[in-house]
Amino acid sequence: MTSGLEFTCKLPDWIEDHVDFDRPYPTAEDKMRLVLDLALRNVAEQHGGPFGAAIFDDTTDHIVGPGVNLVIPASNPTAHAEIVAIAVAGSRLGQYDLGSGGTRPTTLVASTEPCAMCLGATPWSGVSALIVGARDEDARAIGFDEGSKPDDWVAYLESRGISVQLDVLRNEATNVLRQYMATGGEIYNATETEEPRPNA
Ligand SMILES: [Zn+2]
Repeated sequence: MTSGLEFTCKLPDWIEDHVDFDRPYPTAEDKMRLVLDLALRNVAEQHGGPFGAAIFDDTTDHIVGPGVNLVIPASNPTAHAEIVAIAVAGSRLGQYDLGSGGTRPTTLVASTEPCAMCLGATPWSGVSALIVGARDEDARAIGFDEGSKPDDWVAYLESRGISVQLDVLRNEATNVLRQYMATGGEIYNATETEEPRPNA
C-alpha cells in the first residue's frame, strides 16, 4: 500500500498506436472500430478487462478522449473504459462539461453497454449521444456483471437529451468479450458481494 493521497489512471503507451487525434472518425462504425481496437489490444496485452470507450467531438468527428478498462493495473474498481474516456476527455478539454453547455456536443462510444455505474456517469459527463456495441446480455453471457439498471435505461437517457444507438458492430464487439474469456482473462470482482462477478 502506498501512502500518497491521490490517484492516477495512466493509459498505456500503446493507446497511441491506435488513436489518431488528427483524423475524423465520421460514422458510428468508424468510431466503434477504434473503440474495439482499443478493447482488443487491452485483451492482447493482458492489461485489464475487455472494454474500450471514447469520447468524440460531434462537430469534427475527432476523438477527444480514449479509454480502456484499467481496473486491474490502476487498482481502481471504478476505472471502467467509459469512466476513463470521460476523465481523459475532461482533462484534455480542461473542463468537466464535455458538451460545453450544449454548444459543442460530444458522443460517448462504448464497446459494451454501460454498466450501472457508467450509465450513471453518462448524463453527468455532458455528452449528447451514446453509441453501444455489445449488449448487456452479451457481457453477462460470459460472466460479467452489469449491475442493476432500469429496464428502460435507454428511455431514461433520452429523457435527459442523450440519444442512444445500440448494436453498432455488435457481433465484433461480442467477439472481443469472447476473446477475453478464450485467452483466460483474469476475472476481477468485488469480494464483498454475495455472488462475486466481475464488473463491466
Ligand atoms: Zn462500467
